[in-house]
Amino acid sequence: MTPTRHRVMVHPHQQPLPPFTAPGYAVAYFPDGCPPHAPHWPAADGRYPGPHVTTVCPDCLPEARLSADLSAPVTVPADMPMIYALEPIDTPPDLPAVLDLLHEAGFTRIARLPLRGAWPERQVLTADHPTHHSRVILHSQGLRYDLHYPGRDPYRGSFGPDLHLTALATLLLTAGYSLPSGSPEEIPLAGSGAVLLTADETADLIVSGDYPDGGSADIAAGLDLLDAVRAGTILAFRLPDGSLATALNPLLAPPTEIS
Ligand SMILES: [Zn+2]
Repeated sequence: MTPTRHRVMVHPHQQPLPPFTAPGYAVAYFPDGCPPHAPHWPAADGRYPGPHVTTVCPDCLPEARLSADLSAPVTVPADMPMIYALEPIDTPPDLPAVLDLLHEAGFTRIARLPLRGAWPERQVLTADHPTHHSRVILHSQGLRYDLHYPGRDPYRGSFGPDLHLTALATLLLTAGYSLPSGSPEEIPLAGSGAVLLTADETADLIVSGDYPDGGSADIAAGLDLLDAVRAGTILAFRLPDGSLATALNPLLAPPTEIS
Protein backbone atom coordinates (compact mmCIF):
# COMPACT_ATOMS: atom_id res chain seq x y z
CA MET A 1 0.00 0.00 0.00
CA THR A 2 1.43 3.34 -1.03
CA PRO A 3 1.02 6.42 1.15
CA THR A 4 -2.28 8.17 0.73
CA ARG A 5 -2.29 11.23 -1.52
CA HIS A 6 -5.38 12.67 0.12
CA ARG A 7 -5.12 15.54 2.56
CA VAL A 8 -7.54 17.69 4.50
CA MET A 9 -6.72 21.24 5.52
CA VAL A 10 -7.01 21.83 9.26
CA HIS A 11 -7.61 25.19 10.92
CA PRO A 12 -7.71 24.46 14.68
CA HIS A 13 -10.11 26.41 16.87
CA GLN A 14 -7.41 26.67 19.55
CA GLN A 15 -3.78 27.20 18.63
CA PRO A 16 -0.60 26.49 20.55
CA LEU A 17 1.16 29.56 21.88
CA PRO A 18 3.01 31.75 19.35
CA PRO A 19 5.52 32.10 17.80
CA PHE A 20 5.59 29.57 14.97
CA THR A 21 1.89 28.89 15.17
CA ALA A 22 0.64 27.58 11.85
CA PRO A 23 -2.73 29.17 11.03
CA GLY A 24 -3.52 26.06 9.04
CA TYR A 25 -1.89 22.77 8.14
CA ALA A 26 -2.61 19.72 6.02
CA VAL A 27 -2.93 16.20 7.41
CA ALA A 28 -3.26 12.84 5.67
CA TYR A 29 -6.77 11.63 4.87
CA PHE A 30 -7.48 7.90 4.48
CA PRO A 31 -10.75 7.40 2.54
CA ASP A 32 -10.90 3.72 3.60
CA GLY A 33 -10.25 4.42 7.28
CA CYS A 34 -7.11 5.32 9.25
CA PRO A 35 -5.09 2.05 9.19
CA PRO A 36 -3.78 0.37 12.38
CA HIS A 37 -0.27 0.56 10.91
CA ALA A 38 1.15 2.61 8.06
CA PRO A 39 4.37 0.87 6.95
CA HIS A 40 4.92 3.35 4.11
CA TRP A 41 4.55 6.42 6.29
CA PRO A 42 7.44 8.68 5.17
CA ALA A 43 10.31 9.00 7.63
CA ALA A 44 10.25 12.78 7.11
CA ASP A 45 6.84 12.78 8.80
CA GLY A 46 8.10 11.12 11.97
CA ARG A 47 6.18 8.05 13.08
CA TYR A 48 2.64 7.07 12.26
CA PRO A 49 0.98 7.42 15.65
CA GLY A 50 -1.85 4.94 15.05
CA PRO A 51 -5.35 5.50 13.69
CA HIS A 52 -7.32 8.74 14.21
CA VAL A 53 -4.49 10.62 16.01
CA THR A 54 -2.92 12.94 13.45
CA THR A 55 -4.72 11.53 10.42
CA VAL A 56 -8.36 11.76 9.38
CA CYS A 57 -10.80 9.30 7.82
CA PRO A 58 -14.60 9.20 7.34
CA ASP A 59 -14.97 7.57 10.80
CA CYS A 60 -13.06 10.20 12.78
CA LEU A 61 -13.96 13.24 10.67
CA PRO A 62 -17.00 14.25 12.79
CA GLU A 63 -14.95 14.19 16.01
CA ALA A 64 -12.04 16.08 14.38
CA ARG A 65 -14.52 18.80 13.35
CA LEU A 66 -15.30 19.50 17.02
CA SER A 67 -11.88 21.12 17.53
CA ALA A 68 -10.99 22.45 14.09
CA ASP A 69 -12.38 23.58 10.76
CA LEU A 70 -11.59 20.86 8.22
CA SER A 71 -11.74 21.17 4.45
CA ALA A 72 -13.06 18.53 2.11
CA PRO A 73 -10.36 16.00 1.12
CA VAL A 74 -8.08 17.04 -1.75
CA THR A 75 -5.51 15.12 -3.77
CA VAL A 76 -1.91 16.35 -3.63
CA PRO A 77 1.30 15.43 -5.53
CA ALA A 78 2.90 12.16 -4.44
CA ASP A 79 5.91 13.78 -2.77
CA MET A 80 4.00 16.09 -0.44
CA PRO A 81 4.53 15.46 3.30
CA MET A 82 1.73 13.82 5.26
CA ILE A 83 1.57 16.86 7.54
CA TYR A 84 2.69 20.31 6.48
CA ALA A 85 2.00 23.97 7.14
CA LEU A 86 -0.19 25.59 4.50
CA GLU A 87 1.65 28.89 4.44
CA PRO A 88 4.96 30.26 5.67
CA ILE A 89 4.30 32.03 8.92
CA ASP A 90 5.47 35.53 9.65
CA THR A 91 8.95 35.07 11.00
CA PRO A 92 9.92 37.28 13.88
CA PRO A 93 13.03 39.42 13.31
CA ASP A 94 15.10 37.57 15.90
CA LEU A 95 15.09 33.92 15.00
CA PRO A 96 17.00 31.48 17.17
CA ALA A 97 20.37 30.76 15.55
CA VAL A 98 19.42 27.32 14.24
CA LEU A 99 16.23 28.63 12.64
CA ASP A 100 18.07 31.65 11.29
CA LEU A 101 20.55 29.36 9.54
CA LEU A 102 17.77 27.19 8.10
CA HIS A 103 15.79 30.26 7.04
CA GLU A 104 18.83 31.62 5.19
CA ALA A 105 19.25 28.27 3.43
CA GLY A 106 15.68 28.63 2.12
CA PHE A 107 13.74 26.68 4.74
CA THR A 108 11.13 29.40 5.01
CA ARG A 109 8.12 27.32 6.01
CA ILE A 110 8.67 27.22 9.77
CA ALA A 111 5.82 26.14 12.03
CA ARG A 112 4.85 23.94 14.94
CA LEU A 113 3.15 20.85 13.57
CA PRO A 114 1.52 17.82 15.22
CA LEU A 115 4.28 15.45 14.11
CA ARG A 116 4.86 12.42 16.32
CA GLY A 117 8.17 10.64 16.50
CA ALA A 118 11.01 9.63 18.78
CA TRP A 119 10.35 12.71 20.88
CA PRO A 120 7.89 13.39 23.68
CA GLU A 121 6.27 16.52 22.25
CA ARG A 122 2.89 16.48 20.58
CA GLN A 123 3.87 19.51 18.50
CA VAL A 124 7.37 20.01 17.07
CA LEU A 125 9.02 22.90 15.28
CA THR A 126 9.34 21.99 11.62
CA ALA A 127 11.30 23.86 8.95
CA ASP A 128 10.35 22.91 5.40
CA HIS A 129 11.96 24.00 2.16
CA PRO A 130 9.03 25.13 0.01
CA THR A 131 10.14 23.40 -3.20
CA HIS A 132 12.81 20.75 -2.52
CA HIS A 133 10.76 18.62 -0.08
CA SER A 134 13.48 18.97 2.51
CA ARG A 135 12.54 19.06 6.16
CA VAL A 136 14.26 19.68 9.46
CA ILE A 137 12.45 18.84 12.71
CA LEU A 138 13.60 20.45 15.93
CA HIS A 139 12.55 18.63 19.07
CA SER A 140 13.60 18.47 22.69
CA GLN A 141 16.07 15.63 22.04
CA GLY A 142 17.78 17.08 19.01
CA LEU A 143 17.21 17.63 15.34
CA ARG A 144 16.06 15.29 12.54
CA TYR A 145 16.84 16.09 8.94
CA ASP A 146 15.57 14.83 5.61
CA LEU A 147 17.39 16.80 2.94
CA HIS A 148 16.84 16.69 -0.78
CA TYR A 149 18.36 18.83 -3.48
CA PRO A 150 17.88 18.51 -7.26
CA GLY A 151 20.53 16.22 -8.72
CA ARG A 152 21.94 15.26 -5.31
CA ASP A 153 21.69 12.21 -3.09
CA PRO A 154 19.28 12.68 -0.17
CA TYR A 155 20.63 13.01 3.34
CA ARG A 156 18.68 11.69 6.30
CA GLY A 157 19.71 11.46 9.91
CA SER A 158 19.71 13.22 13.20
CA PHE A 159 21.73 15.27 15.66
CA GLY A 160 21.60 14.97 19.41
CA PRO A 161 20.72 17.87 21.69
CA ASP A 162 24.27 19.29 21.63
CA LEU A 163 23.88 20.49 18.06
CA HIS A 164 26.65 22.74 16.82
CA LEU A 165 25.74 25.29 14.18
CA THR A 166 28.89 24.57 12.21
CA ALA A 167 27.85 20.95 11.84
CA LEU A 168 24.41 21.96 10.59
CA ALA A 169 25.92 24.47 8.16
CA THR A 170 28.32 21.82 6.87
CA LEU A 171 25.48 19.39 6.41
CA LEU A 172 23.37 21.92 4.50
CA LEU A 173 26.29 22.80 2.23
CA THR A 174 27.12 19.13 1.65
CA ALA A 175 23.50 18.39 0.77
CA GLY A 176 23.57 21.13 -1.90
CA TYR A 177 22.18 24.19 -0.15
CA SER A 178 24.01 27.49 -0.19
CA LEU A 179 24.39 29.90 2.66
CA PRO A 180 25.04 33.62 2.44
CA SER A 181 28.58 34.78 3.01
CA GLY A 182 29.29 35.43 6.63
CA SER A 183 27.55 32.20 7.59
CA PRO A 184 29.56 29.46 9.27
CA GLU A 185 30.62 28.04 5.89
CA GLU A 186 34.05 29.59 6.24
CA ILE A 187 35.45 27.80 9.20
CA PRO A 188 38.91 28.99 10.12
CA LEU A 189 41.24 26.05 10.60
CA ALA A 190 43.55 27.02 13.45
CA GLY A 191 43.88 30.55 12.10
CA SER A 192 45.29 29.32 8.80
CA GLY A 193 42.76 31.09 6.59
CA ALA A 194 41.57 27.73 5.30
CA VAL A 195 38.24 27.71 3.47
CA LEU A 196 35.77 24.89 3.93
CA LEU A 197 34.97 23.10 0.66
CA THR A 198 31.63 21.68 -0.36
CA ALA A 199 31.49 18.04 -1.46
CA ASP A 200 31.34 19.11 -5.12
CA GLU A 201 34.35 21.39 -4.75
CA THR A 202 36.23 18.56 -3.04
CA ALA A 203 35.25 16.19 -5.87
CA ASP A 204 36.50 18.66 -8.49
CA LEU A 205 39.77 18.99 -6.65
CA ILE A 206 40.28 15.25 -6.23
CA VAL A 207 39.37 14.43 -9.83
CA SER A 208 41.48 17.22 -11.31
CA GLY A 209 44.41 16.64 -8.96
CA ASP A 210 44.82 20.41 -9.12
CA TYR A 211 46.52 20.89 -5.78
CA PRO A 212 50.04 20.41 -4.45
CA ASP A 213 50.73 16.64 -4.25
CA GLY A 214 47.50 16.11 -6.24
CA GLY A 215 49.38 14.52 -9.13
CA SER A 216 50.72 11.74 -6.93
CA ALA A 217 47.56 11.24 -4.87
CA ASP A 218 45.92 7.82 -4.67
CA ILE A 219 42.60 8.07 -6.56
CA ALA A 220 40.97 5.26 -4.53
CA ALA A 221 41.88 6.99 -1.28
CA GLY A 222 40.55 10.23 -2.76
CA LEU A 223 37.20 8.63 -3.50
CA ASP A 224 37.01 7.22 0.03
CA LEU A 225 37.71 10.71 1.31
CA LEU A 226 34.99 12.11 -0.93
CA ASP A 227 32.47 9.62 0.48
CA ALA A 228 33.35 10.77 3.98
CA VAL A 229 33.01 14.43 2.94
CA ARG A 230 29.60 13.71 1.42
CA ALA A 231 28.59 11.95 4.63
CA GLY A 232 29.72 14.98 6.61
CA THR A 233 32.08 13.01 8.83
CA ILE A 234 35.17 14.64 7.31
CA LEU A 235 35.61 18.33 6.57
CA ALA A 236 37.76 19.24 3.56
CA PHE A 237 39.55 22.58 3.40
CA ARG A 238 41.61 24.46 0.88
CA LEU A 239 44.60 26.06 2.57
CA PRO A 240 45.99 29.43 1.45
CA ASP A 241 48.85 27.68 -0.43
CA GLY A 242 46.28 25.73 -2.45
CA SER A 243 46.78 22.41 -0.73
CA LEU A 244 43.95 20.17 0.39
CA ALA A 245 43.54 19.57 4.10
CA THR A 246 41.03 17.42 5.93
CA ALA A 247 39.81 17.18 9.48
CA LEU A 248 37.46 14.86 11.28
CA ASN A 249 34.17 16.58 11.98
CA PRO A 250 33.71 15.66 15.63
CA LEU A 251 30.48 17.62 15.81
CA LEU A 252 28.58 15.74 13.19
CA ALA A 253 27.24 12.27 13.81
CA PRO A 254 27.42 10.14 10.66
CA PRO A 255 24.10 10.37 8.82
CA THR A 256 22.09 7.20 9.24
CA GLU A 257 19.71 5.88 6.67
CA ILE A 258 16.20 5.61 8.05
CA SER A 259 14.08 3.28 5.98
ZN1 LIG B 1 -9.56 8.14 11.28
